[in-house]
Amino acid sequence: MIPKSIEQISDQAIAIKWDDGSESVFFAEKVRGACPCATCKEENENKPKANPFKILKANPNDVVFRSWEMVGRYAVRFSFSDGHDAGIFTFEYLKEIGE
Ligand SMILES: [Zn+2]
Repeated sequence: MIPKSIEQISDQAIAIKWDDGSESVFFAEKVRGACPCATCKEENENKPKANPFKILKANPNDVVFRSWEMVGRYAVRFSFSDGHDAGIFTFEYLKEIGE
């Protein structure tokens, strides 16, 4: 599954159209909370899953997308307004967390 197009709808939302015709929308707070980078993963594992945003230093409601870029042909990297941009989101993972 690969994106046919990626479009930033607003500060808070990015939409991906997949090559199977489906579409996913990603909200900055949620994507930031689901960041798969080593640092966030480690922090997430030490926190109760019920409250994934607890690890965030900034108020998650304030987190917006700053930019994004393709990583090779398998992933997207998002840059957030809190300065974090270490997470590489594979297409597979994005499909899972999208709405
Ligand atoms: Zn991270």
